[in-house]
Amino acid sequence: MARTLVAFHAHPDDEAVLTAGTMARATAEGHRVVLVIATDGGRAQADIDDARLGERRLGEARESARALGVARIEYLGYADSGMDPRADPVPAGRTTFVRASVAEAAHKLAAILHEETADVLLSYDRNGGYGHPDHIRAHEVAATAAHLARTPRVLQATAPRDTLCRALNLLAAVHCLPPGLDRSSYDRAYSARSEITHRISVCRYAGQKRASLRAHASQTALHGGADRTLATFLRIPRPLYDIVFGQEWFIDPDHQGPVSHDVFEGLP
Ligand SMILES: [Zn+2]
Repeated sequence: MARTLVAFHAHPDDEAVLTAGTMARATAEGHRVVLVIATDGGRAQADIDDARLGERRLGEARESARALGVARIEYLGYADSGMDPRADPVPAGRTTFVRASVAEAAHKLAAILHEETADVLLSYDRNGGYGHPDHIRAHEVAATAAHLARTPRVLQATAPRDTLCRALNLLAAVHCLPPGLDRSSYDRAYSARSEITHRISVCRYAGQKRASLRAHASQTALHGGADRTLATFLRIPRPLYDIVFGQEWFIDPDHQGPVSHDVFEGLP
């Protein structure tokens, strides 16, 4: 039975890192996949001095969506809140995602879920992964929207903290880590392995996942050319890449029983 999967993300490029494999797998298996992005990612650092960075990044998200076979892409219209929304000035005439009301954003997302008769909504764990304020807000908005639209399943994208820390140590050993990345900050990020309810194998879609990452060209370098996380991911040798990116993990707080390997398993 063909299902509809809606992946909700805070910024262009989050889909490439967290859920691209699951999205590519769903489209390959004949399901409809929709990508909804809350903000344009205009506060990200980039190698270009581009006042229209947000516009460029939305274009990159469209290219990424094409690589993954996404049927529809929607942008909710918010500005990127930045890592420290209290320190960063609000862009003129714009509303940042964390300053918008949860109810308003949830209604926008719920309208799409309703229109699509979504079976599964992908969102973020309660830590917002590594803790970006827009990711935490996306977790809240997704939960409210799914409730409004009566979407049967919300899967919070995450990663097992222990695997992530081991992978970071491995990458450090082969000099693949971006300089300045604080590995200890990941000790409390993402989720404990025991909380994970869905582990999805996406090895077969590694090529599409890499294409999705590559689409976010503005995020592969910093001013002065220093490495960024996305560029680092693309430089990881393929066998190691498959270990790090061959699976995607989710939490469904309503899930009962053993870990599931299919996002649509057991749906009515
Ligand atoms: Zn993000």
